[in-house]
Amino acid sequence: MEVMGICAICGRAAKLYTCPLCGKLVCGQCMDQKRGMCLSCTQGTRGKPKNSKF
Ligand SMILES: [Zn+2]
Ligand SMILES: [Zn+2]
Repeated sequence: MEVMGICAICGRAAKLYTCPLCGKLVCGQCMDQKRGMCLSCTQGTRGKPKNSKF
């Protein structure tokens, strides 16, 4: 299923993918298909501190 629209990250019209994490519609270049998430989420995971000790 192909969806054309405006990418939520770079803002240009392209074929969009839905990020399973944040639900944003992003284009192929803004979607990290290896990780299965958008670039916003791949960068966001690094920013979140892991609380190994609760
Ligand atoms: Zn994009
Ligand atoms: Zn995302």
